[in-house]
Amino acid sequence: MKEKVTYSALKMFKNCQRKYKNRYIREIVAMGYDDEKLFLGSLIHNCLEIWYKTNSRKKVLEIIPPENLLARAMIVSYIKKYATEPFEVVAVEKEFSVDIINPETNRQSKSFTLAGKVDAIVKMENGQYYILEHKTASSINNTYLDALWTDFQIIIYSLFLGVKITGVVYNIIGKAKLKQAEGETEEEYQERRSKLMAKNKSFRTSAKRKMPESDQAYFKRLLKKYKEDNMFHREEIIISKPLLEDLKFELWDLTQALLDAKNKDRYYKNGDFCFNYNSACQYYELCKSCDNEIVLENLYEHKEAHEELEGK
Ligand code: SF4
Repeated sequence: MKEKVTYSALKMFKNCQRKYKNRYIREIVAMGYDDEKLFLGSLIHNCLEIWYKTNSRKKVLEIIPPENLLARAMIVSYIKKYATEPFEVVAVEKEFSVDIINPETNRQSKSFTLAGKVDAIVKMENGQYYILEHKTASSINNTYLDALWTDFQIIIYSLFLGVKITGVVYNIIGKAKLKQAEGETEEEYQERRSKLMAKNKSFRTSAKRKMPESDQAYFKRLLKKYKEDNMFHREEIIISKPLLEDLKFELWDLTQALLDAKNKDRYYKNGDFCFNYNSACQYYELCKSCDNEIVLENLYEHKEAHEELEGK
């Protein structure tokens, strides 16, 4: 039976073979790694899936925990901003599984199939089809937007969706950095008060203790933030033929390199990638300990590979 691979798995293999082995062969992840960040991203993603399937604000809000005021503000503001769309939604969460073809010989891979999923397919007013891809971003700036064309996964997926895809619309939602004010303790207030009094010749101050910000006030601040222009952005990218051709070869070559690593059961480490996103890779402790069993048992847990796909 052929093994299923996704482009994100192949990309991980390209970046660090050992990372690929840990995630997709050993199926382990570091306990608690980036849970909060991933939770918000996948929650917003699920909300948009429901929104584009049902058009029901009520159903969308039902899946957001009441205490998650940031996610509520993001979605409430999103629905308001995009109440009417310049496209018709043709499919939501469209999954596919296809044979991988050698572009030189047109023969199928005997070892792998490619599986993937796109957030939505939309039809524009001019009749052209686009992939709609949702992203949550810490900040939407030129660097972020310039890097979108390197999102090869979506570009190669456009070949397998059953309709001619002209481009990708990146639907980007910014993550507001506002935090709910915690207020100050009595001790903190007294300390601040004493300092203010010391600065004043009359040893007086009108300073009051800062109380925690109410949920209502924080939510209001978030809604105001989401009225700013740079919190939502749609970026359109046209898929070029030469890039697609290039990617077909890359896809094939990556599967051949993967096959080679599998046959030898050797997945080398890429030390240049350990701190790639300005923080340590989740397998850093494991690699550093040379796969020590105690480290493995205490810091890592099982997580099925490709769990984003329903037909895993
Ligand atoms: S810590 Fe470095 S070598 Fe180890 S899996 Fe991560 S990126 Fe690869």
